[in-house]
Amino acid sequence: MKHTIDNTVTVDNCIFCKIIKGEIPATLLYQDGDFAIIKDLHPRAPLHYLAIPKSHFVTMEDADYYQSQIVGRMLKKISTIKEQLDLVDYRLIVNQGKGAGQSVWHYHVHILGGKQFGDF
Ligand code: 5GP
Ligand code: ZN
Repeated sequence: MKHTIDNTVTVDNCIFCKIIKGEIPATLLYQDGDFAIIKDLHPRAPLHYLAIPKSHFVTMEDADYYQSQIVGRMLKKISTIKEQLDLVDYRLIVNQGKGAGQSVWHYHVHILGGKQFGDF
């Protein structure tokens, strides 16, 4: 079964596409040609970043092969620049679909750190 998502969001009215294009301000911590890491606007931990592929897709089900490769590279990059992000141990979260808490319809990985996390 497909995820429950908001189908009215497209590449033209997507918040994260606008951030990537510089049309909406964000605190940018890292970027290369394929993805960006920004501060979350409403942090849920002392350190809360979002890793966002630059090309628009909603969930991993929608990712083509190239986009899925970018996500793999993005996760590796988080690990190699973790000191730059002040991270020691950290939690990565991907909400996929409304029922999982997804509210922005452009794939992103939450990076949470700066505290001791409880059991999941
Ligand atoms: P989701 O609920 O889709 O997994 O996560 C979306 C995240 O995007 C939320 O943590 C929310 O605080 C963050 N967010 C929503 N709008 C903006 C924005 O305009 N700028 C930034 N930096 N974060 C945003
Ligand atoms: Zn987008």
